[in-house]
Amino acid sequence: MSIGGVERGSAGGILIRDGAVLAPEGWWKPGYVYLEQGKVRAAGAGDPPPALVEAAGRVLSARGKAVLPGVINAHTHFSQVLMRGLAGGRPLVQWLKELIWPLQSALTPEEMRLAALVGLVENLHCGVTHVVQHHKVVRGPAFTDAVCRAAQTVGLRMTLARSWADMGANPEPADAILDDLRRLYREWHQPGRLEIANGPISTWRCSVDTMQKTHALAGEFGAPTHIHVAETQEEVEMTLELFGRRPVDWLESIGVLDQRTQVVHAVWLEEGEKQRLAERGATVVHCPVSNMVLGSGIAPVADFLRKGVRVLLGTDGPASNDTQDIWETLKAAVGLARVANLDPTLLPPAQALRLITDGRTVQEGAPADIILVNLRHARAAPVHDLDSALTLCTHGSDVDTVIVDGRILMEEGRVLVIDEPALLEEAESALRHLRRRLGWE
Ligand SMILES: [Zn+2]
Repeated sequence: MSIGGVERGSAGGILIRDGAVLAPEGWWKPGYVYLEQGKVRAAGAGDPPPALVEAAGRVLSARGKAVLPGVINAHTHFSQVLMRGLAGGRPLVQWLKELIWPLQSALTPEEMRLAALVGLVENLHCGVTHVVQHHKVVRGPAFTDAVCRAAQTVGLRMTLARSWADMGANPEPADAILDDLRRLYREWHQPGRLEIANGPISTWRCSVDTMQKTHALAGEFGAPTHIHVAETQEEVEMTLELFGRRPVDWLESIGVLDQRTQVVHAVWLEEGEKQRLAERGATVVHCPVSNMVLGSGIAPVADFLRKGVRVLLGTDGPASNDTQDIWETLKAAVGLARVANLDPTLLPPAQALRLITDGRTVQEGAPADIILVNLRHARAAPVHDLDSALTLCTHGSDVDTVIVDGRILMEEGRVLVIDEPALLEEAESALRHLRRRLGWE
């Protein structure tokens, strides 16, 4: 007997039942999902058919929980896990020059490994199944390799956007950037699992020639170019001074604005720049909590959505957020869009939720990346509306179970892939050593 392609007796599948399931046509209350061999093999409303119950190797009860595709954190910097709480009172460029860049340069590969592991585990706790790591290389390939290995250990899907700057402070030679990118594609690029992307640091530290070459190289692998753009007014001024164009205009003029371009922040754009993002099919990554902590401004997200621009959310690094809680970022995105426009109708919860699911739903044939979010607690219950409960009531700590590629990485809040208490202890000890080396204590 076959149900949704599931053969009776094919043991080992995971059946999730009795939860509210985010389906293409809306919520099934309740519904069920059957996962096997890395895919959703069957899903539907009501009780699961007896044949699925029989076929399942594991049955997870999702009573009182929402069942939805794993969410995306579209921008972070794991090196900053060892820099939490250091945003205090400095504007972006001064903050980078006085704190972030010197501290980043002082890291060892082992510290980078621990920072990445903690960052990945925090994302896992929040139900993130795909994270975009805008990765500062520091010194040599060991730092990047440590982050790639950490992603394999924790089991999240990761896009590693290899950061670079060939102008300004400590520029990297263009040849070295291209050689390292080629090496990363050769050694680590695995589509859908661990993808290497081009990660120019910003529009004011990257030359035209290297931008074009790295974007073309990424194109050979269908990979994105992921870049900070117009986070602050100061950055817009610096780009104008260097290239005589505003940031998005500059990207377009050099041929680096297309469907593979991910524009991070996009706070200070003029009307024409927003239009060009829509025309070129670029993605905006909105990081509202980071923008608030650094006092950078409010990105015009409602305008982007109205123009049909694809928008995803990012927490940004822990030095400017200071958590990786994508749910907090989601609520901030809703609140900021409404207050900036004095319009409470903007970003209704079901639309807002798409900013972290990228519009994915639970359906047959989709990758088995599923999360269970507990809604039976005093901050959310009783639930009138599931989209509201997820968008406005949920914290990262409410995520109960996380499955990536059909593998349970966290169950009922317990991380199964790494000894979390030991990791946190190691990271604390590493931070003490780092502070001593920097002469901070
Ligand atoms: Zn960033």
